[in-house]
Amino acid sequence: MDAARNRGLLLAAAGIALLLAATFAAYRPVAPLGADAPPTVFSAHRAIAILQDLVGNGVPHPLGSPAAAQLRDDIVNRFSALGYAPELQSGFVCNDYGVCGNPVNIVVQLAGSPGERNAVLLAAHYDSVPAGPGASDDGAAVASLLEIARILKARPAPRHPIILLITDGEEAGLLGALLFVREHPLSKVVKAAVNLDARGTSGPSLMFETGAANTWLMRLYESAVARPMTNSLFYVVYRQLPNDTDFTAFKQADYQGFNFAFIGNVGRYHTPLDNVVNADASAIQHQGANGLAALTALANAPSLDAPAGESVFFDGYSRTLIAWRSEFTLPAALLALILLVAEAAILLRGGAVTGRQILRGWVGILCALASAVVLCAGLLALLIEVDKVPALDGASWVSQPLPMNVAAVAISVLAAGAVSVWLARLAGFWGFWVAAALQLAVLCVATAAFLPGASYIFLLTTMAAGLAALPCAVSVLTTRTCNAWTRDLAALLPALTIFGGVLPLLRFLYMSLGSVAWPLSTLVTGLSLATVLPLLAVASGRVRSRIIAAAALVAAGGVVCTVCLPVYSAAWPERVNVEYWVDADTGQTNYLVRCDSSRLPATLAAAAHFDPVPRPRFAGGAAQAFYAAAPRLALPEPELQLDSLPSMVPGAAPSSHFELHVRSARGAPEVFLVFPAGAHVAEVGLVTAAGLARANAYKLHSGATWLEIVGLPADGVTLSFDAAGDQPATVQVFDQSYGLAEGGFLQRARSARATSSQDGDVTVVHRTVSLNPAADRRDGKH
Ligand SMILES: [Zn+2]
Repeated sequence: MDAARNRGLLLAAAGIALLLAATFAAYRPVAPLGADAPPTVFSAHRAIAILQDLVGNGVPHPLGSPAAAQLRDDIVNRFSALGYAPELQSGFVCNDYGVCGNPVNIVVQLAGSPGERNAVLLAAHYDSVPAGPGASDDGAAVASLLEIARILKARPAPRHPIILLITDGEEAGLLGALLFVREHPLSKVVKAAVNLDARGTSGPSLMFETGAANTWLMRLYESAVARPMTNSLFYVVYRQLPNDTDFTAFKQADYQGFNFAFIGNVGRYHTPLDNVVNADASAIQHQGANGLAALTALANAPSLDAPAGESVFFDGYSRTLIAWRSEFTLPAALLALILLVAEAAILLRGGAVTGRQILRGWVGILCALASAVVLCAGLLALLIEVDKVPALDGASWVSQPLPMNVAAVAISVLAAGAVSVWLARLAGFWGFWVAAALQLAVLCVATAAFLPGASYIFLLTTMAAGLAALPCAVSVLTTRTCNAWTRDLAALLPALTIFGGVLPLLRFLYMSLGSVAWPLSTLVTGLSLATVLPLLAVASGRVRSRIIAAAALVAAGGVVCTVCLPVYSAAWPERVNVEYWVDADTGQTNYLVRCDSSRLPATLAAAAHFDPVPRPRFAGGAAQAFYAAAPRLALPEPELQLDSLPSMVPGAAPSSHFELHVRSARGAPEVFLVFPAGAHVAEVGLVTAAGLARANAYKLHSGATWLEIVGLPADGVTLSFDAAGDQPATVQVFDQSYGLAEGGFLQRARSARATSSQDGDVTVVHRTVSLNPAADRRDGKH
């Protein structure tokens, strides 16, 4: 008797376990090819040999640094040795947010000039962050481009010209890519781009962003890429993240194309640990092979004039690509909804279920979802509170995420089990089934209407539910009964469909988002488990209690393990930057410590007298730091000279034009100008001996209150800018050099479980400058 009651649930559990195993097997990175691989295929070992030569010294090479110049020479020499004629493109450029610099791009053409013909671009960036050598981000892609350049010479010429672009200044703010699309003549003939980047050092290569004409693109991708890993939901999620790549600039230039990245071991990203030793051959093999395949498919496409049209798409366990045009989604969703409503009406009329049971089922599903998500989010908040998980506003990953990854799912199982006990009789199989199916159908219609890229799992599940319930609906219509096998099938098919869709997503969720992925995993699992609730409702009480007990145990175990395990490790260190600040206005000098955990690490607290309460790094700044008094070094302050006075136009909106000469007297490579909150920089440009070139004037996003110049020349720059809003009376000026002018003992005190990241340890000299001498004179300050 019990066996028959539990059969559906056991089959569902076995099916989900198989899907889980298939997910892990499918999304493993590929096997790297050795140096003996045929010359016309991509070999990770050959790429890594190049990578070792390029960045094996471990020296960071940010925009404007001597190390970047050296690396650029090495890359140029390698292209020359392959028989190419690499060209350098340089120029002053600002991005939309006010970061400016002078990147030097390397542009390489395959088989002569494209002339007027449409061309395809393959891109990677050679600059790194100041903190680390950027072996995976993005040295591996640069080495891969060199390997691909060699292969292209060995293959027949493609239908369309190929341009290889190795950009500079990506880390500073996409500066090289912006310079290329805005100013390089070849940028006008490019129709599609393939971009290779990384937000980690390992893992499979995901294609997470495409152009708008993705119906056309995904057809090419499907035909070209052997191990597809992509879906239209990745991009929906990616848009929510603060990350950008050069592909953003390419899309602004209306290029179609593909953006590939691997995201495993994000703990090493933008730190000194992103070195050649930690570069992963599998990741490089997958990404290099994908890049070459996508480039070749585009370069041999019959035409590069992409027909408009968007698709919903996903890979079938990395073996095939499934795609359909976005406009089919909403009608299909509505059809599925109509079918389900019709089936529900038949079940209601046939007496298989009552309206009250459906309502109870739906209340149960909502209670399970809400209680599980609240519990998981509450546990996460608690773990953050007791410093066992870093705060969500920083890099919120831990060294050992597995226990909480499992616990987040177990919490959903626990809630579903509890609700099934509560409502087994009151809702019953069909009460839960109809409620779950209708809820998914409504979510399906909503996503199909507003976020089609995210709709595919809901659509497939709703259609599976509609089809799976047909035999029962027919049976109820004719005989007023439905046998247990047919009934179980009605739940099994949608349950396996939804888990088949979400397991590959759950596989990458934590990696993508950090610990906020835990409550999200609980939500996603909870939505999926709603389809299993009908089977839980008819299972025996003993099985339900065992499931509840096991889930509670696993969830509790996951939380306890997370509390006991170290948050950070040598392989997954905390990001802690030490800074030396000189305030030229007050004469004060301080050590500043910025860290992910928002708690001052004990080893640093013991090394100097830090104020226990963090403060903003400067007036109006968002980032907080711990302060300790430091000995004073005689560092010269940054120079800022007003070359042209602001003039108010009578009758016009308050706005003013400035020309400022900025220079770091101590040769620091970065300068920041911070304006008062109400004064927004509207447009900025570089003034040369010949005056302001209008081509070099960049409009900024409205509301920009700062300017940053990266890779500042020794003799400084003269900037012209318009300030909208309040006329700025004062400006804060900072110059920043990499490394500490003072405070080596603090770097040594940083524990093995901590590392610098991003800009790394820096020395900053800060002063305030009046921009309004006329007002100062009126106030009697002169
Ligand atoms: Zn990058």
